[in-house]
Amino acid sequence: MSSDEAPPLELQGVVKRYGDFIAVSEVSLRVERGEIFALLGPNGAGKTTLISCITGLTRADAGSIRVFGADVLNDFRQTRRDVGLVPQEVNFDPFFTPRESLMIQMGLMGTEPDRAHVDALLRTFALYDHRDAYTRALSGGMKRRLLVAKALVHRPRLLFLDEPTAGVDVELRQDLWAEVVRLRDEGTTVILTTHYLEEAEELSDRIGVLRSGELIVVEDREALMDRHRAHRVVLQLDRALTALPDGLYPGAEIANRTLTVPFQGTDGLQTILSAVKQQAEIVDLRFEETRLEDVFMSLVSGP
Ligand code: ATP
Repeated sequence: MSSDEAPPLELQGVVKRYGDFIAVSEVSLRVERGEIFALLGPNGAGKTTLISCITGLTRADAGSIRVFGADVLNDFRQTRRDVGLVPQEVNFDPFFTPRESLMIQMGLMGTEPDRAHVDALLRTFALYDHRDAYTRALSGGMKRRLLVAKALVHRPRLLFLDEPTAGVDVELRQDLWAEVVRLRDEGTTVILTTHYLEEAEELSDRIGVLRSGELIVVEDREALMDRHRAHRVVLQLDRALTALPDGLYPGAEIANRTLTVPFQGTDGLQTILSAVKQQAEIVDLRFEETRLEDVFMSLVSGP
């Protein structure tokens, strides 16, 4: 049964197979109240499959999934009320107006009709002026905002956003991000999937990285970024070197008189400068930060 102290989401050993293919492999995770948790992973990592298991769109083959303490299979009616899902694909009937779509969704979720709440949502998502337009006549950005409003109509305590900003322009992305933060600040727990590290970095309190169905990292956002955010120093030398000096970090590269070396912390930099000075004079020096994309690749590739 649901309980007020239970965490919004608790997964234990969740497995989902399609035939012989394992899409989600033994995933265990606990998400805390009022956090924004980003589930990060490349295409096909299993993000949507995992969300589908939690939201009841598909059934896990093994493991347990609890939402505020309630089991998603045995207490489906309870968990359905607590969960909202913003799917990747726009999926509403084009012949309903935004207001009708939201009222119908309320009915589907078994909530009492509440026109004032629907109108408040329409205002929040800047759709009120279009409340009586055919949904098919809305712009792409408006449709996406309506999707979010639809997921919120029954006031879920746990909200899933499946790649909320895929194919969305910069302005709408900022609006959606602001809305997600506002929801979190009001006490909603938010789980979003993304393959943009920038999105995870901008929004989330914690990040989980899914690779080939396995949850390989779960960490506070800042700790994860700090651990992976290395710097690089680019040194111009007074002569060409044919081999790398000893004692440099892995990933150092030499091209004629330019030496590029990743490092972490000032001690790391000192070590590099001392090693290089044994072999050449440094005539110029500049710093570069590792691109977020490289951080992401180092997380999802490798052993
Ligand atoms: P994306 O970022 O592209 O949305 P994802 O991380 O959400 O990817 P999933 O859509 O969960 O990944 O897919 C995980 C794996 O499971 C993929 O290899 C996919 O081809 C496979 N898969 C998903 N649904 C099915 C299905 N109904 N039948 C067979 N295989 C499936």
